[in-house]
Amino acid sequence: MSASGKPMKDVMPSKATWIKDKIQEIDPEKNQVTLGNGETVSYKYLVVAMGIKLQFERIKGLPEAFDTPGVCSNYSAQTVGKTLEALQDFTEGNAIFTFPTPPLKCPGAPQKIMYLADEYFRKWQTKPSYYHVQQCWAFNICCQKIR
Ligand SMILES: Cc1cc2nc3c(=O)[nH]c(=O)nc-3n(C[C@H](O)[C@H](O)[C@H](O)COP(=O)(O)OP(=O)(O)OC[C@H]3O[C@@H](n4cnc5c(N)ncnc54)[C@H](O)[C@@H]3O)c2cc1C
Repeated sequence: MSASGKPMKDVMPSKATWIKDKIQEIDPEKNQVTLGNGETVSYKYLVVAMGIKLQFERIKGLPEAFDTPGVCSNYSAQTVGKTLEALQDFTEGNAIFTFPTPPLKCPGAPQKIMYLADEYFRKWQTKPSYYHVQQCWAFNICCQKIR
């Protein structure tokens, strides 16, 4: 994981001014934003791209569970490192792959790791049953047995 990252300063376009602060208020009437330190910055055009904030704490017990073996999430750089470890330690039982309630950062990610895990388990000849648990928009939880 550490080898896949780059410092922000190395990828910042040379003509951009990088303000190392957060925006706490946008005033579209005055075309200006207020930074965390209280300073204001004017703009001609504003592109808002704040992404999606992870909220693991909205699942009861999950933040604490990350400190125990076998629980990981590919959505965070802090928790993805445990994924390979979990696959390597997994020899039998049920593996459960969950799909977060939308909006989510990447709908492919939960499925991709399930397929990668499948390949890993086949390679190492473990034969677990595993389930893809999906919270759909319009339906209740769908639980699909993969193997
Ligand atoms: C595991 C995983 C796999 C993925 N795989 C793919 C893939 O294969 N293909 C693909 O196309 N996409 C993939 N995605 C999705 C892709 O990473 C996201 O769609 C993309 O990063 C979103 O970019 P963004 O700039 O909108 O948001 P982000 O990358 O979240 O960036 C938003 C930035 O805004 C900052 N910010 C937030 N609030 C403030 C504020 N008040 N003031 C200042 N700054 C603020 C945040 O700190 C952050 O740096 C994946 C995502 C994950 C998690």
